[in-house]
Amino acid sequence: ECVLYWMRMVDMRLKDNRALAKASKAAKEHGVPLVVLFMFVPQDYIAHDRGARKIDFMLRNLRILKDDLKKLNIPLYTETHSPRRTVPSRVLEFIKSIGCTQLFANMEYEIDELRRDIKLCQLAQQEQGVSIDVLHDRCVVPPGIIKSKQDKDYSVYSPYSKQWFQYINSDPQYLAKSPSPTANDESIHKSEKLRALFDSTLIPDCIPGFELTSEQLAHMESAFPAGEVAASEILDRFLHTKTSKQQLTLEDAFAKGGSSKEKTNSAHTRIHEYGDRRDKIDGDTTSRLSAYLALGVIAARTAEMSDDSESATIKATDGSRKTGVGRWNQEVAWRDFYNNITACFPRTSMGRPFIEKYADLKWELELPEANLEAWKQGMTGYPVVDAAMRCLNKTGWMHNRLRMTTAMFLTKDLMIDWRFGEQYFSQQLVDHDLASNNGGWQWSASTGVDPAPYFRVFNPYLQSEKGDPDGAFIRHFVPELASLKGKELHHPSEAHAEKLGYPKPLIDHFEAKDRAMRRFKDPGAV
Ligand code: FAD
Repeated sequence: ECVLYWMRMVDMRLKDNRALAKASKAAKEHGVPLVVLFMFVPQDYIAHDRGARKIDFMLRNLRILKDDLKKLNIPLYTETHSPRRTVPSRVLEFIKSIGCTQLFANMEYEIDELRRDIKLCQLAQQEQGVSIDVLHDRCVVPPGIIKSKQDKDYSVYSPYSKQWFQYINSDPQYLAKSPSPTANDESIHKSEKLRALFDSTLIPDCIPGFELTSEQLAHMESAFPAGEVAASEILDRFLHTKTSKQQLTLEDAFAKGGSSKEKTNSAHTRIHEYGDRRDKIDGDTTSRLSAYLALGVIAARTAEMSDDSESATIKATDGSRKTGVGRWNQEVAWRDFYNNITACFPRTSMGRPFIEKYADLKWELELPEANLEAWKQGMTGYPVVDAAMRCLNKTGWMHNRLRMTTAMFLTKDLMIDWRFGEQYFSQQLVDHDLASNNGGWQWSASTGVDPAPYFRVFNPYLQSEKGDPDGAFIRHFVPELASLKGKELHHPSEAHAEKLGYPKPLIDHFEAKDRAMRRFKDPGAV
């Protein structure tokens, strides 16, 4: 007999992990060992457009988890499975083969994953003596709890976030941490079946079809070191170190990402400056925790609870938009908000617009491939868009303001369907998360949850001047423009661009904006 914890790609940690903690407790109560299962399902990765960087990050984290679990005498059993639709029956078969009576897992809110878990519960019901517990752990406040006075799910962030802060302030359960798992005792080795699981753990170097080049691998390993210790160091650095005076490019910042050695107690640490500096794209202005939150290497409530006793000024409950801490907590609330949308409006994870009338919107049909390709490669003739896309291609990460700018450029200037952009981001981002990516894309394309609808069109030239006033970011990622000075770097003249081998703008922003307005106002219009 044993208890099984099924770890997924969203809860890859031992600390403060609800399903794992419950599984460990159940195992202790019944005096049986705990076993951990992790399944590789390449068809899932294809269906979700997962990219090689995210898959590599998953594998690197899993290797560390395997060692940490081994120290606790807990076997990590891994298996590659296909086809994805038979995952539930395979899991049940495995449960029976090792004599397990209880399975615990944390919930994933995407429609396919919810259906998979429902199927597993249905199959388990037909069996005697197997119980399945799927718990909420991904968000600080689980989806479906925060409702309007009319008992409706919110589609606007502000009222949702107001209640979100009220919930976590009034009920300690939302921020309560779960204990780490306790070790299995040595008797686990007496069972031949369970002993064999230790030896069968296989974590491949890579999954076929999701390989990185050695250059990409080296970059990712230094920019995003794997493991829970690395995640808390990055959080620590954000909380307790000062922003460098030197204007770092994002790539440089990555290289120094893990270091929290120069701790300070001052009120001018990165998080305190976040409120004023978070929209600046020319430096290391945000936490860069997204890849860790996306894979669940750190729990969102741990990040939220990040005050501990070290700094009395940092309060988990601070939701003020005026302080850096409050502003940052607001972003964690955005993450919950988008997960809430994914869970409550399943059409968003089925490729459909949140605002249904925009299903008929006319996207550009002529030449979309050439324009889409130019956007992907960072060759649109708009320096800030190109720098951002080249940064994404090179590093697997992009600043939030640039995600919005590039997404609006694709959907409003080029009038290319947001689903192409959503897919490309999924394939490139190390922090890909369906809820936030879909939410961000639909927000930018005005087909999603946004109280200021289609007339929100970013001017890429102004975004560039505001976010990157000295042009450090553009010069780094679009080196052919490095010699341009002042405003011209943000908006090169055609003559200079041609001389420097830089492309002409694909489209005139102001004409494109008029077209977008026309079509969004009347989705049937040409
Ligand atoms: P910080 O600014 O330090 O924020 C802290 C955390 O809050 C982030 O790690 C993230 O988990 C959360 N967060 C911050 N901003 C947002 C937001 N706007 N929406 C939801 N959560 C947020 N985020 C992802 O994690 N994965 C994605 O695939 C993703 N795709 C996006 C696509 C588009 C088009 C847009 C506009 C935004 C997208 N975001 C996505 C949200 C946001 O850009 C990133 O979370 C953020 O840039 C990550 O950097 P950071 O960790 O330094 O963020």
